[in-house]
Parts: sequence; C-alpha cells; structure tokens
Amino acid sequence: MPAINKVTVLGTGVLGSQIAFQAAYFGYDVTAYDISDEIVEKAKDRFAGLAKVYQTDDTVAATPEKVAAALAHLALTPDLADAVVDADLVIEAAPESLDIKRDLYTKLADVAPAKSIFATNSSTLLPSDLKEFTGRPDRFLALHYANQVWRYNTAEIMGTTDTDPDVYAAVVKFAEGSGLVPIELKKEKAGYVLNSLLVPFLQAGAGLVLGGYADPETVDKTWRIATGAPAGPFEIYDVVGLTTAYNISAASSDPASQQWATYLKENYIDKGKLGVATGEGFYKY
Ligand code: NAD
Repeated sequence: MPAINKVTVLGTGVLGSQIAFQAAYFGYDVTAYDISDEIVEKAKDRFAGLAKVYQTDDTVAATPEKVAAALAHLALTPDLADAVVDADLVIEAAPESLDIKRDLYTKLADVAPAKSIFATNSSTLLPSDLKEFTGRPDRFLALHYANQVWRYNTAEIMGTTDTDPDVYAAVVKFAEGSGLVPIELKKEKAGYVLNSLLVPFLQAGAGLVLGGYADPETVDKTWRIATGAPAGPFEIYDVVGLTTAYNISAASSDPASQQWATYLKENYIDKGKLGVATGEGFYKY
C-alpha cells in the first residue's frame, strides 16, 4: 500500500482550508495551494480562524500547543509545481465547476510526481467525470469531506472502476489517520451516501410546505419527536444556508425544485434571511 505522509490541498476556500488544517492537526506535512498571492494571504486568515475554532469548539478543545504544531505543519504557495513537488496525496478542493477542475487536473498531471495519488472533494461531480484528465486513473478517487470537518468528521471514499485497490486502501488509512471516519463506497454514486439520504429528505420537507400540508415548525417538530433526531429538515436548511439550497434547486430541471427555488428566493433570500449565518432563515438565531 502506498505510504501517505506529505499532503497537498488545492484550493484554500471553505473546504480546502479545513481539509488542510485537519490533516496538519493530525501531524501530516501539508502544503496548501491557491491561484494568487492575494488569495494565499487570505488563506492565512482562514487558518488563524480555524486555529481559534479548534480551541473553542468542545468537540476538539485543542490546546494552544497542538494548534501551534498544526500551523507549523502547514505551508502555503501560489505555485502549483512547488505545491506538489513531493506530494504523496493531492486533495483537490477547487470550485465546483467541471471546466475549472478539468483544467486543473490537466496542469496537475504534468507537474505532479508519478507517485502522487489525486483525490477530489467534489460534492456533485463523479470521479469518472475527471479521471481521464488526471493522467493516472488508477491513482485517482473521490475523498469527500463534510463542512466543519473537525466536528462532522465523515470522509466518503469513492473510486472508479480504474482505481487501484491499494490506492483506495491508502486513502482509507489516511482518513483514519487524520481523525476522520472513513465511509467506504463500493462503487460510484452521485451524492455519495450522505447526500443520497439528505437531499430527498430535504425535498420531502419542501413538498410538505409548498403543498400547504404543514408549516416548517410542524414538520421539524414531527421529525424530532417521532424519531429522536436532533433537527428536522428546516433546521437543517438553516444550517446548510438557504443560498446553497436555492442554487441546488434552481439548477434542477424538475418543476417542483424550480418552485422551491422561487419560494426560497421570494420569502427568504430577497429579504436577507439566509439561515444561521445571517441570524435568520426559517428560524431566528
Ligand atoms: P470555495 O469557493 O470556498 O473555495 C474554492 C477555492 O478554490 C478558492 O479559494 C479559489 O480561489 C480556489 N480556486 C479557484 N480556482 C482554482 C484552481 N484552478 N485551482 C485551485 N484552486 C482554485 O469552495 P468550497 O466550498 O471550498 O468547495 C470546494 C470543493 O469542495 C467543491 O468541489 C465542493 O463541491 C466541495 N465541497 C464543498 C462543501 C461545502 O460545504 N462548501 C462540502 C463538501 C465538499
């Protein structure tokens, strides 16, 4: 099985910064790459923010020493070739665009050493959509994190029919080694395990409200009391953020999704109610 010690993360946005920090916190040598000096500067602020979160969030309660050690394991660069020069694993967390990712993998295939395993964190693209651009389909798979990785620490691992089982096993070991619970998919599935469950659940909640059957509070209360779950669909919408929910619904050709997108826009987004992040969505915070 290939050894993974040095990790490179491409993209230092919401997820990339978390992925890089989490791996560094667990002792991996991490280099994070982004496309300009300016964005790399901003990534320093993101890492400083995460350093605070790891100390204050009670699921981690990191000591200042452990956080300082994590920061010491993190390097940043706007040079792709430098970023991957000795990488055992390259985790791609670039924007969710087929064109951007294909272009990035084409460049990456040229500069990364033959030993590097590539993993995409894409939420909606399948690794099969990208594999031919990697130059190494046998060393490529999906490694999908959840937002707030320190707390919601699943790592969905999904190969293509070309992925070498030893490479898959090495990534499972890396996930365990970086404080995550590996969720092993046996074959490709859009939405992995989590979103295959969550998206229809949220859509069912939307259908109840749009159809005038029940209001959000009633739907959530039913789910919480009858199942013991901590949150119903509309409490989850507020956490995910209504802009994300809108974007996903608006992009669908399904008329019910379109109707939901319009409802979210008119009743919430246009009024600045975007969920927990803005203090109000379906609920006030
Ligand atoms: P983001 O927009 O916050 O960050 C994207 C980063 O990629 C930015 O820093 C941007 O400068 C950088 N970037 C732009 N072009 C690039 C290029 N050519 N090469 C490398 N980096 C480039 O996006 P995000 O929310 O972090 O999402 C990144 C990926 O993670 C997407 O594939 C998304 O589906 C996936 N994901 C997101 C979430 C989430 O909750 N946000 C959860 C799981 C997976």
